[in-house]
Amino acid sequence: MSSTVLFDDGNHKNILLEDFGTGTAVQANQHLIIHDDEGMILDPGGHKIFNKVAATITDWLGGGKLRYIFLSHQDPDIVAAINAWLMTTEADAYVSVLWERFIPHFGVDKFVVNRLKPIPDEGMILEMNGVSLSLIPAHFLHSCGNFQVYDPVSKILYSGDLGASFGMDYIDVPDFYAHIQYIAGFHKRYIVSNEIMRAWAAMIRPLDIEIIAPQHGALIKGRKMVTQFIDWCENLECGFNLMKGLYKLPEKSKNPIS
Ligand code: FE
Repeated sequence: MSSTVLFDDGNHKNILLEDFGTGTAVQANQHLIIHDDEGMILDPGGHKIFNKVAATITDWLGGGKLRYIFLSHQDPDIVAAINAWLMTTEADAYVSVLWERFIPHFGVDKFVVNRLKPIPDEGMILEMNGVSLSLIPAHFLHSCGNFQVYDPVSKILYSGDLGASFGMDYIDVPDFYAHIQYIAGFHKRYIVSNEIMRAWAAMIRPLDIEIIAPQHGALIKGRKMVTQFIDWCENLECGFNLMKGLYKLPEKSKNPIS
């Protein structure tokens, strides 16, 4: 387990808590943004990693406090330990309004449930000690209620599951075109359609982005590679574009379990 500092100008820090997960659970990244004495954790993860992530964050915050918990969407690798986070911190947790009433099924106690706050479909800005963190709409990439975070100080776009990669052994993508083999399968199956990718690309292209930091796998660093990734997304046929032929009723004779 390790922490990697992605940005540090003295009073603003962006820290990647890398791969605290073990075993068969999917690899996941936790990200922390600190400005002065306040912090935001992004997609904090499940129960198995809670103790380690919470202890590491407490170290990084020093005497500061966790102010925000950002949940890009409703998947268990993001949300499962939310009750522990709400019980052990004073932070407010933000998630799409679509998931506000589903997440309590992860076992959120009633005296902290009011700290689970809805993000409207249009997104919103969260202020943290004078820094405006943008919660950007990214619906259907892959979840139907889904957001990304843009930090204007470090110029990092936290892209959630968009850009997720699996199976390589590096943290920084060395060559985007050689990296496609590790991202293609996930995006073709989980991202809803090319139309959504094009809408996202048009929205995100004007942003000044130094790093795209997904919730799984390696980081996309530098303007050139960021543009290569946006171009790739914009042109990808995925999801429903590829699955139309699968909508047939299953046949018993083709059952994979004999
Ligand atoms: Fe997900």
